[in-house]
Amino acid sequence: MTKQRSKLVVGNWKMHGRLAANAALLEGVARGAQALPPDVHVGVCVPFPYLAQAQALLGGSRVQWGAQDVSAHEQGAYTGEVAAGMVADFESAFAIVGHSERRAYHGESSELVAVKTQRALAAGLTPIVCVGETLEERESGATERVVGAQIDAVLAVLSVEEAARIVVAYEPVWAIGTGKSASSEQAQQMHAFLRARLAAKGAQVADVPLLYGGSVKPENAAELFRQADIDGGLIGGASLKAGDFLAICAAATAGASVAS
Ligand code: PEP
Repeated sequence: MTKQRSKLVVGNWKMHGRLAANAALLEGVARGAQALPPDVHVGVCVPFPYLAQAQALLGGSRVQWGAQDVSAHEQGAYTGEVAAGMVADFESAFAIVGHSERRAYHGESSELVAVKTQRALAAGLTPIVCVGETLEERESGATERVVGAQIDAVLAVLSVEEAARIVVAYEPVWAIGTGKSASSEQAQQMHAFLRARLAAKGAQVADVPLLYGGSVKPENAAELFRQADIDGGLIGGASLKAGDFLAICAAATAGASVAS
């Protein structure tokens, strides 16, 4: 069976950027994205203060934008938090939820990530739900148990219609920011595992975009994106350079021959 899904490549700037440098990066990405084929979709998730800048500079372009987190609360006395509705006010398309850095440094549980996913959906955003195992978990043979529990916690609180509107990013923690990507075989194996978990929720959910994240670079992107169940990437460090990010987006095209 051959299945052709469009590709999605999203940049995660993390806590990087300043107004002046952002302008050059956003304009460079918007300009370069014009040359990408229509089946490659592109987004950037910027720090909250720069959503307005992204809206101003990317509006009308091929590139969508979003945030890197949302609050689990709708509104109220939660000092320092940012509600999904606030993110949506800036015409954002995406909100990353459950990034491993938030799980590790802010103690976010899969149950909290599930609530954040609901908040993002209720605000009209596409949540990019991140899952992934640590090196210790992989080496102890717990990868599928850990990643399965992370995705199941989110799917458990969503209707089939809601689940069909999410994006899932498989990001092995040991590959994030380390320069050491998962091999295409390792990544495909986990994407196939996740695809089966999603399909078990409902036929409509089987085709949600499954992104790989973890040290994706222009040199390894095409090989990763060529895998049957890898629909694109969530890109950290390499999304901070317009040339590298655009080369990764272009590799999504080159790797788009999806067969399973
Ligand atoms: C990320 O932070 O989501 C990520 C994938 O980072 P990097 O590409 O730098 O490994």
